[in-house]
Amino acid sequence: MLFSRRQIIKALAATLGCSTIRVASAASGAAPAIPIDVLVVGCGVLGMCAVRELASAGYQVLGVERGTIGGGQTCHSHVYIHRGHIYETAPLIERLSDSDALWRPLIESGRIEIESRRSFFGFADAPAMQRRLEIWRKMKLPFSEATVPATLAHGVVKVGVWTPEATLNGGSLMRYLSRGLEARLTKVSGIDDIELVDGGSAGWRISSLSILTERGKVHVSPKMILFAGGAGNIHLARTVAEAQRDADPRLGSCQTLRMSHMLIISGSAASLPRVSGVFPDIGGLFIGVRDEGAQRVWLVSDDRSPRLRDEFDSGRLDARWWLPRVIDSLKKLSPQWFRSPNGLRWGTYEATKAEPSAKHWADRRDRIEDFGLQNAVFAWPTKLTLAPKVARELKERVSSRFPSSDRPIPPEFAAIRVQPRVAEELWRQTQLVSWSKFRKRYGLGA
Ligand SMILES: Cc1cc2nc3c(=O)[nH]c(=O)nc-3n(C[C@H](O)[C@H](O)[C@H](O)COP(=O)(O)OP(=O)(O)OC[C@H]3O[C@@H](n4cnc5c(N)ncnc54)[C@H](O)[C@@H]3O)c2cc1C
Repeated sequence: MLFSRRQIIKALAATLGCSTIRVASAASGAAPAIPIDVLVVGCGVLGMCAVRELASAGYQVLGVERGTIGGGQTCHSHVYIHRGHIYETAPLIERLSDSDALWRPLIESGRIEIESRRSFFGFADAPAMQRRLEIWRKMKLPFSEATVPATLAHGVVKVGVWTPEATLNGGSLMRYLSRGLEARLTKVSGIDDIELVDGGSAGWRISSLSILTERGKVHVSPKMILFAGGAGNIHLARTVAEAQRDADPRLGSCQTLRMSHMLIISGSAASLPRVSGVFPDIGGLFIGVRDEGAQRVWLVSDDRSPRLRDEFDSGRLDARWWLPRVIDSLKKLSPQWFRSPNGLRWGTYEATKAEPSAKHWADRRDRIEDFGLQNAVFAWPTKLTLAPKVARELKERVSSRFPSSDRPIPPEFAAIRVQPRVAEELWRQTQLVSWSKFRKRYGLGA
């Protein structure tokens, strides 16, 4: 795949928001810079898993984050650890097939907060459930029999099963992943002064760049750069897509941005049932549960997430178009709780999701993309569940190119380092209001 110098410069400038990209010839040599093994750009679940993997393999790895650790998609998510039950096609299920082996030690370790250890899959009729169970049997996905929880007994759900899929607390997960790595992480105000070297037939290489923080800047020369910016990778993804289309018009974009809405419902443990689950034929409802003392919270989404034009497009779609159907689904699920939901508090948030585009993606082994540079790749896990797997694949890529240097963190980095904050789950920061206010705000029926 051929990338022009112009394409690479445009994609890097847009991704990093940098103003200076210089092109040097291999002979002129890079500006004086501190050599490091690996720079990871973006500290969501993927960036943090990658920093951990590389640090434990002895690499001198630094992670930079422009917001908060996990504050992107990661802490907007339900943090549901999928095993494939949600899908109906083999390639998607297979992609998740070894996720349990990677997450189980962490889930069993007692080091992070587990919100729920199993998930209820509820169906309106037995044939619909049997169709799904047939797929699970064929794909050897575990499940066990369940009776419909009493709290859902008056709704449309007539049958269901348990799956051993856990839901984790996102803030707790990110605190765990960043523990012990503090010296390697910094909050950045930007990355600038990129120097590109033309390596001829070997392709372009980023020879050096500056990490900027509010305490100053350090000019580094990474052997490898991993872009783990989540939705922020879209400019790199589009560059790849353009080049792919030039090479083969059947290939579409490899990354798409989608808008997800989350409905947050909070009440006392007595006023809101404890159900974490998936309801494929009841509006595609997906519910994650959080218990905090006497308070219980539902994080509710469904199967709709329209495409966005770019990462700044999200303001176009507030939850007004989305809520009527999801509220209707909730009333069907549990009329007893949602016909007169006055005792509960309500809120919503919108979140941009980086997803693979539908076309031609399932046959690709991973979501690690080369974009025409010798020493950089961008990656995204498509699901939080896949982050440890993609991080391991990233480490294998790095170690196939060079061994770890086992060098300490450069003092120049320590001197400008600013401790990034670890994000909490977004529902905690979302303003919740009474049903009557919520209903009026979003123009919902009584
Ligand atoms: C509403 C919602 C619900 C979801 N539910 C689930 C679920 O239950 N289970 C599941 O498996 N998946 C779920 N997902 C998907 C999952 O959240 C994502 O796949 C995963 O969190 C992506 O992790 P990431 O580290 O790639 O990206 P992010 O978490 O978005 O992290 C990227 C980080 O990079 C930083 N960054 C970007 N550009 C730069 C730059 N130039 N310089 C420095 N830093 C930069 C950002 O600030 C951000 O912190 C959900 C997603 C959404 C939106």
